[in-house]
Amino acid sequence: MTLALVTGIGGQDGAWLAARLLQDGVQVIGTHRPSSTAGNWRLDELGIAAHPRLRLVALDPGDAAACRQLVADIAPDVIYHLAGQSRVADSFRDPLGSVAVNGIGTLNLLEAMRRHAPDSHFVLAASAEIFGTAPAPQDETTPPQAASPYGLSKLVAHAAIGAWRASFGLTASSAILFNHESELRDEAFVTRKISRAAARIALGREHDIALGNLDAQRDFGYAPEYMDALVAMGAREPGDDYVLATGHAASVREFATAAFAAAGIELEWSGQGLAETARDRRDGRVRVRVDPTLLRPVDAPLLVGNAHKARKLLGFAPRVGLAELTRRMVEADLARERAMQGG
Ligand code: NDP
Repeated sequence: MTLALVTGIGGQDGAWLAARLLQDGVQVIGTHRPSSTAGNWRLDELGIAAHPRLRLVALDPGDAAACRQLVADIAPDVIYHLAGQSRVADSFRDPLGSVAVNGIGTLNLLEAMRRHAPDSHFVLAASAEIFGTAPAPQDETTPPQAASPYGLSKLVAHAAIGAWRASFGLTASSAILFNHESELRDEAFVTRKISRAAARIALGREHDIALGNLDAQRDFGYAPEYMDALVAMGAREPGDDYVLATGHAASVREFATAAFAAAGIELEWSGQGLAETARDRRDGRVRVRVDPTLLRPVDAPLLVGNAHKARKLLGFAPRVGLAELTRRMVEADLARERAMQGG
């Protein structure tokens, strides 16, 4: 039986990936930080928390000895390294912490694999933020221009994959992930913040939402489809780098419009810059406004990926578009809201 180690199993991606692997008959060992059980609700929502082939262990990827010990003990066939500081906004507040967790954490696991399970396969969750301000569309050949500490942290990790592949012949792959969202997205991310607010406003439990840069354009995919591609990466030899993206850009404004529409609210936008607002067409009430404190020091203006290579070699074929994505997220938030408050 294949044994997979999934770091960061309690996160959005870790939960979807674990569900897919368990469905495939794989034995899964998932890690969470020693201090954290924050993501267990996702395993519960997917109905896999008590799965007989799933075991959870505590691991701090920053602890080299602990990484070595775990990999030596379990000798995984595949290591999916998803754990990390995952929020661009947080990385401006703690830049060194971000680079240390994402960079050194990846090196610790690569070293653990090199020493104790050199025939394993390694799959890293890197990020489109490594491209920063590089012109779109970005693919595997685009020279990185990381513009945030988070982008740099993922660039360190991504470069380590290439270096360990070249230096030690490891089967190590890097998934250059463009944004991917789902019902399990953390509320700290703007997409889930929007879907939850749209649901709460539709139920009359909130009046409006404040957002930062409405013009930032991202390539929004659906997380489970991206995790299927990670599984395909984990099965391939030799290791390689793959951009995973839909190839379509949408602004935060467009995401909000689609999410509110999914909640039955038609938005009408007016004004510019900090004065821009979106009103509810039915009653003219302001539902979206801009809060300057939410603007980032630097924001990659346009991240849109060309996933031609992954389509060809991994069979990656994302099907869920913006309308369907926002519909799934808003419906899940409506259901949670109704369950939570007896609505
Ligand atoms: P989440 O924030 O949902 O999950 C991240 C996981 O990492 C959590 O389960 C958390 O586990 C763990 N984690 C958080 N902070 C730390 C830390 N300081 N040290 C060690 N572990 C930590 O993110 P996603 O599931 O969406 O993303 C998975 C990976 O993919 C991340 O590395 C992210 O950077 C990357 N990625 C995601 C994209 C997306 O759009 N979703 C786009 C590009 C890259 P716990 O609290 O249980 O320890």
